[in-house]
Amino acid sequence: AKRVYLFNEGSKDDRDLLGGKGANLCEMTTLGLPVPFGFTITTPTCREFFQAGNKLPALLEQEYRVALDLVEREMGARFGDPENPLLFSVRSGAAVSMPGMMNTVLNLGLNDESAAGLARKTDNPRFAYDCYRRFIQMFAAVVMGADGEQFEHAIEHYKTEHGKRYDVEMSAQDWQEIVRIFKTLVNFPEDPFIQLKLAVEAVFLSWHTPRAHVYREMNNIPETLGTAVTVQAMVFGNFGDTSGSGVAFTRNPSNGEHSFFGEFLFNAAGEDVVAGTRTPLPVVALQERLPEVYDELYATQALLEKHYRDMQDLEFTVQEGRLYMLQTRSGKRTGRASIKIAVDMVREGLITEREALMRVSPEHVESFMHPMIDPAQKTTIVATGLPASPGGATGQVVFSAEEAVTTAAEGHSVVLVRRETTPEDIHGMKVAAGVLTELGGMTSHAAVVARGMGVCAITGCGSLTINYPAGTATTDDGVVIRRGDIITLDGTAGEVMLGDVPKIEASSSDDFQVLLSWADKHRRLKVRANAETPVDAAKARELGAEGIGLCRTEHMFFESDRIDQMRGMILAENREERQHYLDILLQFQESDMLDLFRVMDGLPVTVRLLDPPLHEFLPHTEEDMVALSSRIGKPVAKIRAMTESLKEVNPMLGFRGCRLSVVYPEVTEMQVKAIIGAAVKATEEGLKPYPEIMIPLVINVREIRLVSKIIDRVIQEVVQEKQISVPYKIGTMMETPRAALGADRLAPEVEFMSFGTNDLTQMTYGFSRDDVSKFLPQYLEKKMVESDPFVSLDLRAVGRLMELAVTESRARKPGIKYGICGEHGGDPRSIQFFHDLGLDYVSCSPFRVPVARIAAAQAKV
Ligand code: ADP
Ligand code: MG
Ligand code: MG
Repeated sequence: AKRVYLFNEGSKDDRDLLGGKGANLCEMTTLGLPVPFGFTITTPTCREFFQAGNKLPALLEQEYRVALDLVEREMGARFGDPENPLLFSVRSGAAVSMPGMMNTVLNLGLNDESAAGLARKTDNPRFAYDCYRRFIQMFAAVVMGADGEQFEHAIEHYKTEHGKRYDVEMSAQDWQEIVRIFKTLVNFPEDPFIQLKLAVEAVFLSWHTPRAHVYREMNNIPETLGTAVTVQAMVFGNFGDTSGSGVAFTRNPSNGEHSFFGEFLFNAAGEDVVAGTRTPLPVVALQERLPEVYDELYATQALLEKHYRDMQDLEFTVQEGRLYMLQTRSGKRTGRASIKIAVDMVREGLITEREALMRVSPEHVESFMHPMIDPAQKTTIVATGLPASPGGATGQVVFSAEEAVTTAAEGHSVVLVRRETTPEDIHGMKVAAGVLTELGGMTSHAAVVARGMGVCAITGCGSLTINYPAGTATTDDGVVIRRGDIITLDGTAGEVMLGDVPKIEASSSDDFQVLLSWADKHRRLKVRANAETPVDAAKARELGAEGIGLCRTEHMFFESDRIDQMRGMILAENREERQHYLDILLQFQESDMLDLFRVMDGLPVTVRLLDPPLHEFLPHTEEDMVALSSRIGKPVAKIRAMTESLKEVNPMLGFRGCRLSVVYPEVTEMQVKAIIGAAVKATEEGLKPYPEIMIPLVINVREIRLVSKIIDRVIQEVVQEKQISVPYKIGTMMETPRAALGADRLAPEVEFMSFGTNDLTQMTYGFSRDDVSKFLPQYLEKKMVESDPFVSLDLRAVGRLMELAVTESRARKPGIKYGICGEHGGDPRSIQFFHDLGLDYVSCSPFRVPVARIAAAQAKV
């Protein structure tokens, strides 16, 4: 197959073949935009390279030399020609964007002869030797694996010896001398074709850099894809004052505003902008100094956005007053921006509602819902930088990624403070609550990566002076922030504050509501919430929950005003004593349920009967036992003995769930009386309660029959007494493998089944949910499991059990409602599966409800 494509031979639809960068360079070329010509070596070639044990295919060089000839003709210069040299950039680019994760080599093709030629041709020796030394430095580091630091040291040393401080003070002779020194440090190949071949190999190999691995893991990008290599004629932003490099977004990537947004550095190569070592000017600065270039750039960005129908992130260079486009791609954006852009673009007629829904990732929704610093509570701002990634974060100051990781592992929230960040710092950024850098713009590494992660960040905080060895960051006003201090970042405003500043719950916006209403229109799965308290339930309802999918009644008994009654009930020595406490508990339970029915008026509320191991309620220390003894008037010795006897070796597989109903039917009676009693009261208040009573931890149909009988009988009693009837349903929680495997037999007895995927996963794997952290990290690291099965549903086994349960029970009794109420109910990847399985609803924690609404819509679109 063809391995090399010229820029006029591909299009934006060739991402898989040419990588995103290569495909878009082709597209821009075809659109007639000013793109320096070049060619792309395909991603299948990269896979060939790896399969052959990191060897380029035999014929590849011949193939790309043909393409290279055509590029030379187009550009009117020749690769390696001492009189009229053509230089190349050798760029990486996978099908999925991995910004900054792989390697790039610039100015390739220079050697002693062609550098001299470039100097003559451009009549700019200073520029030529600056390029040459940059090239050696980059080539040595990226291709030859040399230590990059030594070059910086060599330059520093030279500058000190010659009384110079800044690059601008360096003359052509100075750079020439630097080149000579560099060449004593590495064995640099002069032959341009050897340089090219080595660079192509190096770019392929950079697919496997550690930072690229981390990035792929975080973003679920398959390891097998590989990267394309793009070889492109160089243009020079460092040519002089009418040259420069920039990065721009067609809309504001931070807040989504529809205004052209970007940064530009005069007389600088593109790498200077991305590295964040100089703080750039806003792109409008071009308008003053090079108005024609600005106009062309402005028109180009508008055209590209319209063409791609998405916000674009552009890289461009200006050489001697001429604009060149080097890259376009869909721009990374914050959650807030993604929602605003999606909604605006539908209004502008650029995309459809369905497309808009697909543009917003669940992470975006989540980050939109991040906490914000309470403006009313702001303390003195000690430093201000760029609002690189929104949200509020408080944490202990650390100065390195390693420290961030260890401190976070100890359970502390951390703020990572750096002069700038590099891809080497990703693992630290990942665990940090916030990132603060002294240098760099809105498009610097720190800013881009933090936004992508939804981590709050401030960049370009120039009023800080960071001293790594001392572990301090000092503001211009002399405030010293030390390692371990607590600081707060407001990433939305770019403000740094001392101490822990209160935050307000994440905000909402009209755009967000609009998008969610589209999600509701396009989804089939219903979304409910797991909630017990009226406050949580109200929050859930506000966030769009269509009912409660799991009300864990045991949580209602942990409150301080009733836990003693609960304990008394558990410790009761006979039925009368137990009944005494149950009568008290009934009052609590009924009024709690009534509150819940009031909040959830008109919507279903699934109430699960008592589930936890009983001993969880009992006092654990001697002190607590003594205290309880005096409160409920029972001898300490009795309490101790009972507590002891209730201890279980394996409580998760112990005396819980409907097993309690079998042994203590009176507890279930009380609960049903409370639930139905509350429903009756709600009805009397004119409300519409829809209680659904759920039996937990079922293993067979006899349990369901026994408990249903209790439920039906109690309900009959209540209804007769009150002369009022309420609709209700009885269902079962599907959380033991046995229940799933025997679902057809359970079916005739129930009206709904709700999968308790936490327990179902625990029992399918035999992984204790509470102890899994002892070995799961190693399991993930050693790839013993693909992902944490408690986060994202395991489709292979747990999913199969669910599928079997649904198929067989549905065949036996059509019309059963199916739900899921484990943690997976809020996990987008799992939601896709639940949709495909044809469940009726997912139930998740209140704050995940919007994420689930979007994910449910995406599952259908
Ligand atoms: P990344 O994928 O990390 O963004 P790129 O391949 O885009 O890497 O290259 C990084 C930078 O190198 C670009 O932003 C651009 O400024 C510069 N660059 C790449 N190719 C060229 C070129 N042909 N001429 C001038 N500068 C280039
Ligand atoms: Mg780039
Ligand atoms: Mg359970």
